[in-house]
Amino acid sequence: MAKIAINIATGSLQQPEMVVGIDLGTTNSLVAIIHPDTKQPVVLKEHDGNALVPSILHFAEGGNVLVGDEAKKHLIDAPQQTVFSVKRLMGKSYNDIRDYSSFFTYKVIDDQTESLVKIQVGDRFYSPVELSSLILKELKTRAEHILKTPVTKAVITVPAYFNDAQRQATRDAGKLAGLDVLRIVNEPTAASLAYGLGLKKDEVKTIAVYDLGGGTFDISILRINGGIFEVLSTNGDTYLGGDDFDRAIANEWAKNIGISQEEMQSNRSIAQQLRLTAEAAKIHLSTHDHFMAEIAGEKVTLSRADFEELAKPFVDRTMTCCANAMKDAGLHIDAIEEVVLVGGSTRVPLVKTSVQKFFNRVPHDAVNPDEVVALGAAVQADILAGNNKDFLLLDITPLSLGIETMGGLMDVLVPRNSKIPSKVARQYTTQKDGQSSMKIAVFQGERDLVKDNRKLAEFNLTGIPGMPAGLPKVEISFLINADGILLVKAKEIRSGVEQTVEVKPQYGLTDEEVEKMLMDSVTHAKEDMAIRALVEARTEARQILDTTSGFLQKNGSILTVEEKTATDAAMTSLQNLMENGNKDEIHTAIEKLNEISRPYAERLMDHAISTAMKGKKI
Ligand code: AMP
Repeated sequence: MAKIAINIATGSLQQPEMVVGIDLGTTNSLVAIIHPDTKQPVVLKEHDGNALVPSILHFAEGGNVLVGDEAKKHLIDAPQQTVFSVKRLMGKSYNDIRDYSSFFTYKVIDDQTESLVKIQVGDRFYSPVELSSLILKELKTRAEHILKTPVTKAVITVPAYFNDAQRQATRDAGKLAGLDVLRIVNEPTAASLAYGLGLKKDEVKTIAVYDLGGGTFDISILRINGGIFEVLSTNGDTYLGGDDFDRAIANEWAKNIGISQEEMQSNRSIAQQLRLTAEAAKIHLSTHDHFMAEIAGEKVTLSRADFEELAKPFVDRTMTCCANAMKDAGLHIDAIEEVVLVGGSTRVPLVKTSVQKFFNRVPHDAVNPDEVVALGAAVQADILAGNNKDFLLLDITPLSLGIETMGGLMDVLVPRNSKIPSKVARQYTTQKDGQSSMKIAVFQGERDLVKDNRKLAEFNLTGIPGMPAGLPKVEISFLINADGILLVKAKEIRSGVEQTVEVKPQYGLTDEEVEKMLMDSVTHAKEDMAIRALVEARTEARQILDTTSGFLQKNGSILTVEEKTATDAAMTSLQNLMENGNKDEIHTAIEKLNEISRPYAERLMDHAISTAMKGKKI
């Protein structure tokens, strides 16, 4: 029998608990649910009809923390106590954001550059996770107030390019706010769901999600197949958005009415007035052809055509990102069947027409572009609440994941753009006789040498029972769960010894870095291949030398004198070439040593040694 609960505080009947969808945005955040009666997604609104909660915190005197519109009021009068754009700091170190530090008006601590950033307000320090949790707590309280029921379960959206550290940080923020985060969902996936894309069982579609907000731009190419979402590629610019349009207008007006850049810097009030009027002009011009206002007693005007000229360079930049995303996905424009618009700045007609022209499709714009992500998160929340069991949502890994093998080479287990969740396993073996432990170093990146990639974790598999080199079978498996968190397990199969680590990277990568790592892999591809070939030749040489000397020590007596002399000479020559020769010279010397040793090795070589000469070594 169903239970009915009564809220003691309000006297009203309590609804069964629902899972909410949260769009935790850089500028604004909002919460949505599937309406219990209409079964349609709706955003939760305050009495004043406002659904957007500015993602801003103000730390008032006396320890009071204001969130949202109340905090926004203090951006100008108390910039050091008012924190905005926390999302940009999630899972980041100071090194990651150093180039943009002037963007933040509050104090971002810069002493330990490698560790996660902290923010100082007054005499207190906060992590981005704590700050995000304060925003989430406020969203939770508001939702409970509106729904008149406790809210403890949520789906939270993140950009598709967020890495493990950033996803984990978002999840931690949810936990700290008292929320059980059922899933971290990609924003473009949520936006598609809001349009019902991917909700039909046998639907197969390729879609583009173009998201231009106030300060960030993202383009994602998704493939939907039978209710499964796969991100084929992502691209964008974390410092490009509607704010750039506002700034361009403000600068143009400042020039026209004779306000210098220095004056804009020193006179905050006039700069603020210019910026706010510029934003009002931009919004007005989305539906009108002309704008007029007065600033400091001077008339300012702007036509739609003038605005478009100012905005065009920024819009063009987004189009370059779209072209790159298409290239990364390996698709031609014709392959895109649907285009979804997200973010307030897609209301600008020039943006809409440019997107339409680029993709040769009329984009979906019927859903409010500020709400579309939260609405889709609610759809996903409903699926996870068990109301729609047919769906599974898949994402991809932005960079390859692998481990270090001999010679510092990267052995990729999960190639970039692999679907997640996913599981891969590969077997490795030991390099030395009696080796009882094995170092497992996990890396992320596209280069052939691990030193050019990013280390995520390192651990030792210990307790491997003593066996000749090459005999142990160590299975390394990578399990990436639905949130994109990597679990690495190493297991020696013969003995059953095993060890597992959860990879929570110390600090994150900016998407510029991800992009740079990808670019580097292309630029250095030839060079990397040459280095890999040389390293592999050296590794093979070292193994053969080790195995041969081991063999000679044990079985030297069966060699003829000629065989012994020839072997010594071939070994010395290989040793020299291993240090100074090129890969071809090394291979020739290996071949020579093999030729000499083959007859007597064949006479005596036992199985363990022959295995040691083949298998891969860590
Ligand atoms: P978001 O980050 O998605 O909330 O988008 C906020 C950005 O959208 C800001 O730069 C706003 O100025 C801009 N915006 C909101 N409404 C409009 C509109 N009607 N026309 C043009 N830009 C708008």
